[in-house]
Amino acid sequence: MTVDVEEWYHNCWVPEYVRPELRPPLPQELDRLLPRLLEQLDRPGSRATLFVLGEVADRIPGRIREAAALGHEIACHGDLHLRANDRSPEAFRKDIADAKSKLEDLLGARVRGFRSPEWSLRTANNPRFRLVAECGFDYDSSLAPAFGAGARTNPVSPTVYRWRDGRTLLELPPLTWGGALRLPAGGWCGRLAPPGRLRARIARAIARGEAPVLVVHPWELVDRPLPGLLTGLARFLHEAGRRGYRERFAEICRGIGGARLDAVADLCIRGLAPAVVGADAIDTSPGLAPLAAAR
Ligand SMILES: [Zn+2]
Repeated sequence: MTVDVEEWYHNCWVPEYVRPELRPPLPQELDRLLPRLLEQLDRPGSRATLFVLGEVADRIPGRIREAAALGHEIACHGDLHLRANDRSPEAFRKDIADAKSKLEDLLGARVRGFRSPEWSLRTANNPRFRLVAECGFDYDSSLAPAFGAGARTNPVSPTVYRWRDGRTLLELPPLTWGGALRLPAGGWCGRLAPPGRLRARIARAIARGEAPVLVVHPWELVDRPLPGLLTGLARFLHEAGRRGYRERFAEICRGIGGARLDAVADLCIRGLAPAVVGADAIDTSPGLAPLAAAR
């Protein structure tokens, strides 16, 4: 189970909301919504990974420490919610390195996982993907095996990428559903999915050892309109299927234990995870050699 810890206005389609220097005064809800979400996720033996923005950690450090004290993993969602490809590789590296050390200073512990805002690394071909490894992350959870958010050629199971100099990065991809359509199970596609279909998909993924990675945002589980203005596509992406999703999400998760991604990563790295992806499913580009998937 993973949570992207961001406000309703961290929407890459609205740059004037995402860039703090352009942002008008906007209602902020995480201080209230994050504890509520963690309460909903609180089941015996079940914990989540929280991908936290650096700018959010600056604003509500106490809430992030509380989440860590409850046993959840704190991972990194970048400093600002900017698409990877909207910045030079150097600027991208600085953003994620700054966010990582900010979170580590706050927690006094190493931060091992990264997820790019809006899945914007897209594919392992992106030169920024290697920078995630160079910044000291053990795993990434950004390469959606879905059209639009990523690419259908991205692996659906945990996969280790190794470059020719020996550097490695484990990818833990977000879950998709809908058979060959490969629709993201998080975001508006997931909110519109019948809970029974998603439960069946999760059960199948577990049986196949695909390590299904679920994604949710705190603002998705509030059954009322967003507290500020979004228009056009940004509005659709945030509002479609949001009515009643809190209950549907609870139904999707019923009886399913949640694991932190660092625990999943340890299993994969130690070679104990049952997930296997054939090398033919892995995007191969010059300079990037697919390693046998985690076993
Ligand atoms: Zn995000």
